[in-house]
Amino acid sequence: MIKLKQKIIKFAKNLNTTNLSPLRSGNLSIRYNLKNKAEGFLITPSGKKYDDISIKDIVFVSLKGEYDKKGLEPSSEWRFHQEIYKSQNNCNAIVHAHSINAVALSSHRINIPAFNYMVAVAGGFDIKCAEYETFGTRKLSKNILKALKGRRACLIANHGQIAYGASLDEAFELAEELENICKQYLIARQLGKPKILSLKQMEKVLIKFKNYKK
Ligand code: 13P
Ligand code: ZN
Repeated sequence: MIKLKQKIIKFAKNLNTTNLSPLRSGNLSIRYNLKNKAEGFLITPSGKKYDDISIKDIVFVSLKGEYDKKGLEPSSEWRFHQEIYKSQNNCNAIVHAHSINAVALSSHRINIPAFNYMVAVAGGFDIKCAEYETFGTRKLSKNILKALKGRRACLIANHGQIAYGASLDEAFELAEELENICKQYLIARQLGKPKILSLKQMEKVLIKFKNYKK
């Protein structure tokens, strides 16, 4: 458990130093089962600067939504982390970031179409934007689960982005990739409406991606 907590701290600091989600914005977690077999996840604490986080601050939350009330509060977004782990067996880690270009694009509340074949990294023909709801609410979790259907990443309206993966390294890389895609799409939109790849063209990419980087 200590090793996983150290990993969470390392990546939390990366959120800050890479500017993917500066200071104390965003949060991240890793799936973890306790020795008594209680299923759950380890998550960053709420409202604490990444620079100041230590091992004792990382919180275990069970898949039933229980955590030790004596310690620090888990991230206010533990509910969507919980719902994603419950619904996606292939998810072992989640990164939520307020990355600049994702936030800018999410304020337009639009899905990212296949303007670039790399949109397929999230697992589908486009990248959805979850409908707006107040942060930390069950309603927001519901909107996020809808946007993640068949995808490993999505935008969250007027808020930011989420990416998940089989490991924290994978989830973090996908969050960085999504931030690049948002930047590229914002630039492409400055020249008008970019040409969008067809479903057939994207199907070919999705098939190739299945065997890429194995
Ligand atoms: P926490 O500090 O509670 O994780 O909140 C940050 C955040 O990104 C809320 O959406
Ligand atoms: Zn947030």
